[in-house]
Amino acid sequence: MSPPSRSGRAAGTVLGSAVGDALGAPFEFGPPGAYSARFPDGAGLMCGGGGWDPGEATDDTQMAVLVGESLLERGGLDLPDVFERFRRWAAGEPKDIGLQTEEVLTGGHPWDLAAPLHFRLTGRAAGNGSLMRAATSAVYFAGAGRAGTMEAARRLAALTHGDRAAWEGTAVLHELVRVALDGADPTAAVPDVLADVHADHRERWATVLAPDWHPDLATEFNGAVWPCLGSALWALRTTGTFETALAAAVDLGGDTDTVAAVTGTLAGAVYGDEAIPARWTAPLHVPLPGHGDRVLRAPDLVARAEALAAGPAHRRAEGPPGRPDGPSTGTATGGQPTEL
Ligand SMILES: [Mg+2]
Repeated sequence: MSPPSRSGRAAGTVLGSAVGDALGAPFEFGPPGAYSARFPDGAGLMCGGGGWDPGEATDDTQMAVLVGESLLERGGLDLPDVFERFRRWAAGEPKDIGLQTEEVLTGGHPWDLAAPLHFRLTGRAAGNGSLMRAATSAVYFAGAGRAGTMEAARRLAALTHGDRAAWEGTAVLHELVRVALDGADPTAAVPDVLADVHADHRERWATVLAPDWHPDLATEFNGAVWPCLGSALWALRTTGTFETALAAAVDLGGDTDTVAAVTGTLAGAVYGDEAIPARWTAPLHVPLPGHGDRVLRAPDLVARAEALAAGPAHRRAEGPPGRPDGPSTGTATGGQPTEL
């Protein structure tokens, strides 16, 4: 089989994330091994359960789609617009929403203060909620280079997560996707990526991204940002196909929809959309509460991925968009990440 095209990898990133989310959702908070017990022949199905219909994507994919639609409709990174889309979605009573994300989005504070205020009050903001929605932005900003895509990731993460650990993790995921879209091996890129992780957070990220790290070594529940990304990279590294990577991720138990969504983001970028089984994409559907109650299907996600992959180059041809203000949390380390 010939290697996937760049557009196939971009489609795989967005579709892979959504498929992982929907595949893992019925197993959320379950024990390790539940997936392989349910599907002993290894050929897992979109089975539904736990309040989810077969193939129904959860908040992970819903938020990723909202980020992607903002990037496309605003022609770049418009943080207040993304926050407003999130707020409308949260007010539309999605079936699931992360605790941290819900508190930030429903607290009534402005877009640039909500997350830092919440973090100051609670000290808790290192969940995987910004990692889970990064597939669309990772495709869009891949053309911005390593520094550009990592900075965009930090800003998007900071909308809901005040802890820099979440920003750095999302930045790492963005960069690993960029590497994979170029046809290189993201697992081999980890040392280079770590060099661009904020120094205060580098060691902890180096631990969970190391080649000998195993999910059993996690010191937190995999709803936290570190073991979530560590587990996704482990699933990618220890398997050889899209399907087996996702099976390994869901079989870890715990926050299965998000660990599998992040795994699907990476595995989709590596293997491309043609490696994703049709029995998973056919029932896939993404409801969008608060946004006209639209329901997207796999072909809609592929079309968005293709538009996102053209992102920054397309914008350059059209002229610069309005420059959004950076967050007041001090995430900017020099200039706008989207100055392309
Ligand atoms: Mg979810």
